[in-house]
Amino acid sequence: MIVIGGGLAGLAAGVSLAEADWRVRLFEQRPFLGGRATSYVLPDGEHVDNCQHVTLGCCTNLEDFYRRIGCADKIKYFDRLLFQDPQGRTGTMQAGMLPAPFHMTGSFLSFAPLTFADKRSIGRAMVSILRGKGHTADLEEPGGISMLEWLKRRGQTPGAIKRFWRVVLVSALDEELDKTDAHYGVDVFWKGFLSNRTGYRMGVPVVPLGVLYDGCKAEIEKRGGEVNLRMPLRGMQLRNGAIESVEFDGGRKESADAYVFAVPHQALLDMLPEEAKQREPALGKIAGIGASPITGVHFWFDRKVMSEPFLTMVDTTTQWIFNKTALYGTNNGSEEKGQYLQLVISASYDLLPKPRQEIIDLCLKEVREFLPEAREAKLAKATVIKEAAATFSPQPGVDLLRPKQETRIARMLLAGDWTDTGWPATMEGAVRSGYLAAEALLRQAGTPKRLLQTDLAPDGLVRMLF
Ligand SMILES: Cc1cc2nc3c(=O)[nH]c(=O)nc-3n(C[C@H](O)[C@H](O)[C@H](O)COP(=O)(O)OP(=O)(O)OC[C@H]3O[C@@H](n4cnc5c(N)ncnc54)[C@H](O)[C@@H]3O)c2cc1C
Repeated sequence: MIVIGGGLAGLAAGVSLAEADWRVRLFEQRPFLGGRATSYVLPDGEHVDNCQHVTLGCCTNLEDFYRRIGCADKIKYFDRLLFQDPQGRTGTMQAGMLPAPFHMTGSFLSFAPLTFADKRSIGRAMVSILRGKGHTADLEEPGGISMLEWLKRRGQTPGAIKRFWRVVLVSALDEELDKTDAHYGVDVFWKGFLSNRTGYRMGVPVVPLGVLYDGCKAEIEKRGGEVNLRMPLRGMQLRNGAIESVEFDGGRKESADAYVFAVPHQALLDMLPEEAKQREPALGKIAGIGASPITGVHFWFDRKVMSEPFLTMVDTTTQWIFNKTALYGTNNGSEEKGQYLQLVISASYDLLPKPRQEIIDLCLKEVREFLPEAREAKLAKATVIKEAAATFSPQPGVDLLRPKQETRIARMLLAGDWTDTGWPATMEGAVRSGYLAAEALLRQAGTPKRLLQTDLAPDGLVRMLF
């Protein structure tokens, strides 16, 4: 079988089919694996992530995939998330002694960037999520409702919206609250923060992202398969309602018993013949799926400026600072005693048209405001990586546009974070889609196998109550 695309979706499908003794031939256009969740070497020799990626305790399929490919020990989990605002007020999210759903109550009550009125309104919204077990009736309204609308209906204060809901959800879902389907937002809080004690724990790679996938090639090759890099697919040929072959740059054609197309939806649209859209109406809809941007800013300081492994910033353009030097446990090639920080700005629409230097100046000013040691430190080097189409936009109603992995075209399977997984555009969603595509193929071949992992079970009082 052939997999097109060596991102997490293609790798998850490829590795699990190889494990089921299928001969997998994977074709990736770039010279490395990992897709959007990867790292590479800059012209100056610095090894950087395309952007900082994090996972959460509730991402059970990604965790399973990391285990399969032997890199689970390269993800470090943190159970304390630190927030700070420009006035220097801090807050944490951390499970205390109480059982779920009250495990965060202690840290929430002392969360200084929020007022008492903000907290009371947030508490009300949490009760609404809990009562519906992660679901509320208005999520079913035709076309969906936006997260902002959902929050307004629950009387959230402007402070709660700006300094709590927006801070958590824009990072998790890469979209502004008025453009996010409320069911994704509610899901984040149900799965990550309310239903159990560990769903919120944040997993951060302690190596550059590309290193995580070292085991994939070996896993596929061990079973007689191959991983072909620098192989951009240009098109496909259909015959009698089935895929007959795929065609690469330079005209090389390949055929297989089955094909998993694990490329971003915009890329799939470019390679789809008109006949495919006619045979599978779901393919005609994917053009309606929008994209949202993420900007990563990389700073190399000449000295140590930060002690925490990461920090969430409230009321600023910069949303997160990751202390890469501390996370890697090395200087990662930067100057002796220097420190490498990576900043993340999700839904960074405003930054897209700005010149690189303007973004550096803006973020440096904020970093110096938040980290006093950075005021005296020299910025030795900086780089900005703008991803205009970082993720699909989780706009209200987008689920109606996301196709299933199995199509009406014989031998054609889809995978990718944008396919119908119920999850937003995340590494977890990508792995789920790969597993679902592999499950469909195994079922079609008469050798069904369950690959998809179950969600974290509710615990504490939530389990007792529901
Ligand atoms: C800046 C940024 C930050 C992010 N942060 C997080 C985070 O913190 N946590 C999280 O869970 N998710 C995060 N994400 C989202 C996450 O990276 C994606 O959801 C996930 O990696 C998507 O995997 P995929 O396999 O579906 O797609 P991709 O990773 O896009 O893989 C598709 C692959 O197909 C290849 N391809 C495309 N066209 C062709 C062609 N014609 N021929 C051959 N190959 C082709 C591409 O090169 C690519 O390797 C982030 C994304 C970005 C961009």
